[in-house]
Amino acid sequence: MSVEDLPTKIHTKRFQNEPNTDFSKAENREEMQQALKDVEASFGADYPLNIDGKSQDTRSHIISRNPSSKETVLGTIASANADQVGQAIEAAQRALPAWQKIPAPHRAEYIELIASGLRTRRFELAAWMVHECGKPWKDADAEVSEAIDFCEYYSLAMRDLDAELHTDYPGEENYVFYRSRGVAVVISPWNFPLAILTGMTVAALVTGNTVIMKPAEQSSIIAFKLMEIAREAGLPVGVLNYVPGIGEDVGPELVGSPDVDIIAFTGSQEVGLTINQLASETDSRQLCVKKVIAEMGGKNAIIIDDDADLDDAVQGVIDSAFGYAGQKCSACSRVIVLKNVYDAFTERLIKAIDSLVVGPASDPAVDFGPVIDQDAFERISDYIEVGTEECETLYESDYSEAAETGFFVGPHVFNIIEEDSRIAQDEIFGPVLAVMKAKDFDHAIKLANGTEYALTGGVYSRSPKNLQRAREEFLVGNLYLNRGITGAVVQRQPFGGFRMSGIGTKAGGPEYLHEFMLPVTITENTMRRGFAPSQDDEE
Ligand code: NAD
Repeated sequence: MSVEDLPTKIHTKRFQNEPNTDFSKAENREEMQQALKDVEASFGADYPLNIDGKSQDTRSHIISRNPSSKETVLGTIASANADQVGQAIEAAQRALPAWQKIPAPHRAEYIELIASGLRTRRFELAAWMVHECGKPWKDADAEVSEAIDFCEYYSLAMRDLDAELHTDYPGEENYVFYRSRGVAVVISPWNFPLAILTGMTVAALVTGNTVIMKPAEQSSIIAFKLMEIAREAGLPVGVLNYVPGIGEDVGPELVGSPDVDIIAFTGSQEVGLTINQLASETDSRQLCVKKVIAEMGGKNAIIIDDDADLDDAVQGVIDSAFGYAGQKCSACSRVIVLKNVYDAFTERLIKAIDSLVVGPASDPAVDFGPVIDQDAFERISDYIEVGTEECETLYESDYSEAAETGFFVGPHVFNIIEEDSRIAQDEIFGPVLAVMKAKDFDHAIKLANGTEYALTGGVYSRSPKNLQRAREEFLVGNLYLNRGITGAVVQRQPFGGFRMSGIGTKAGGPEYLHEFMLPVTITENTMRRGFAPSQDDEE
């Protein structure tokens, strides 16, 4: 029997990725333009919390702004306090026993209804991502597909897991099945405001956990839209609670609660490690050791071998480094070039970068839009200053005028002189690319592995030997050969890193749901002598 035929794969074998919108068709472009206008017409609304099925306002609020046009207020979101966090945890606890008992295929149906809601509102959701997070059209649209994929894939995967593992032995029956962990806290980043939030949330739900959803401050309206869709799907009250708020305030309340069993986090290394530490402290009221899933940052590199196809390599590096202004966790922020092709590659790279168009994300003609907010703008600008002082500047752009309107930062490229320079080591999370010259392929691999991260990486090479070496020696969770390093697709490229890039297994892959569950083994001695009479027999 081949792996393909294994009975546990019966459902996920049927999985198909959601197609992206074809914007070469006029009707699709028109629909997207209309959605952008419709969303614009709804700017300025208020967005309450949702706890135990009820809306709640708060005293403090988060103001959501359009990063392409920083004066434009998109809406006002209620910002939860400690008391409301407590209420949400209680609601999730109350809803848990009934939700756990719902058969897995039935829970999967709820998640499929969420997928269907995402599908119906695809253009609206993409338009919100353009406005709230400065995502270019194509990226925003692809993100809706990814969110749908997570729903469909995890629903099918849960059905697979639900088939009990059964081993018979003479006189004994053995079953292994899965229980949910309990109350889950989902804490998400703004850079994949819909897909990552949806992925972590539906994985927790379909496995039988109840959820408190804490989105990033910068993308709380998009999270509200997901909450709306989940409610329309008819999830029982308290099973999913929407608790936006300031991470530093509500985060520790959620993570430190003795009544929380699992935390699914995606975001920066700094916050991920803080969560991991706090979650490991046990309280006498706790009944379990908390489980932490933390997907964190990266400092991803692409190696350009001396026999690489440079046209392909330049395009792949540009897409990977500057797509969404370098704000994808998978983005290329270092390119390591073998010395024989260094001059030819950098010359072509710089020429190609010069043709990139930076502007408002609502304009489909731009290559990339703004960075997310004022903090990001300042942090990236500081790094650009460091780069200018410590490195050789290969490309710079003047973004001062555009920055008056939105948080625009133009592309920058620095040639690294010292390997341990901050430009070569720190996750900058913006359109700043470090170029490093390698003496040979050994040196290239050493440089590539020379950070604390291990998220994504790539190699452009025509040498089967070097590609094989990269497979074995390049320490990353997702390695891409002769292609760009962003845009992982659910099931085809399960995603996630190790070292300081993550604790947990890959999102969108076959093991992910296990993180949210506890396997239980039941062994029954079937050699019993007779049965206890039932009441019916006695009568
Ligand atoms: P962030 O760490 O600043 O915030 C992430 C979330 O954590 C937000 O919801 C925030 O409010 C919350 N938070 C902040 N302080 C907290 C605290 N003390 N306790 C609990 N929660 C707290 O990250 P970000 O700026 O939103 O996202 C960008 C980062 O995410 C980058 O480092 C990027 O590499 C990473 N990322 C990683 C992946 C991956 O799959 N590995 C995917 C996307 C993003």
